[in-house]
Amino acid sequence: MELRLENVCHAYGETEVLRDITLTVPRGRIVCIVGPSGCGKSTLLRMMGGLERPDRGEVLQVGAPPQGCLNPLTYVFQDFALLPWRSVEGNVALALEDHRTGRARQAEIISDVLSRTNLTEFARALPRQLSGGMKQRVAIARALAVNPAVMLLDEPLSALDAQTRALLMDDLVGLWTRAPFTAVYVTHNLAEAVRLGHQIVVLSRRPGQIREVVEIDAPLEARDNADPALEAKREHLWTLMRDEARAADAELSHV
Ligand code: ADP
Repeated sequence: MELRLENVCHAYGETEVLRDITLTVPRGRIVCIVGPSGCGKSTLLRMMGGLERPDRGEVLQVGAPPQGCLNPLTYVFQDFALLPWRSVEGNVALALEDHRTGRARQAEIISDVLSRTNLTEFARALPRQLSGGMKQRVAIARALAVNPAVMLLDEPLSALDAQTRALLMDDLVGLWTRAPFTAVYVTHNLAEAVRLGHQIVVLSRRPGQIREVVEIDAPLEARDNADPALEAKREHLWTLMRDEARAADAELSHV
């Protein structure tokens, strides 16, 4: 299944937030969305997940979800959104409870996703016993448990320190390399986008419009920061982002 957005527009009252967004999220790819704070990135993600409906335009799910998919769209949030009184496996099980999977199949799925996210030995731990990075791995395991068609990640690493962010980026690359998934990854951090994105969608300041879609061909598992081609893309993206962020800043200061 792929997601297609056609001429999506949205406003909150008088505030126009998204203007004419047309975009395809291809199957098996990670699409990163970057842009200055307040430009509508999270709103766009909520539209993709069906949490909100656009004022105009359409969000289409094209094609069949993967085999064994229990929920076509799942979220991973910045604040992990774990239930504090539930263990790691209990939090993962949460994603499966509304589905008639049967106990044995449920246990199998939980064991599989905990193993893929290196959490097996922490299955019984409570969230308060875990570091931020591990909490986010639990949230990622929970999102993977339903074998989604598209995973929607909203600033998933923004609450973590730089070192943990780097480790989790490696984890996400490893997960994708072993079993490619489709994802939309919202971030304000260009380094994350260049590390994880097959496509990087740069939004303008509000109302968010697509300024450019930058493709990165280098395979995720072999991206080398010193690669001059990657450096050139990073530089180009930074120029686009800086222009938009500066303009957004100037607008705010006049309010
Ligand atoms: P980003 O994720 O790029 O920082 P958001 O999508 O969160 O941007 O927000 C875009 C704009 O829409 C902001 O100005 C924000 O204040 C406004 N906004 C977001 N959600 C709502 C809402 N539910 N009601 C009113 N305004 C909102």
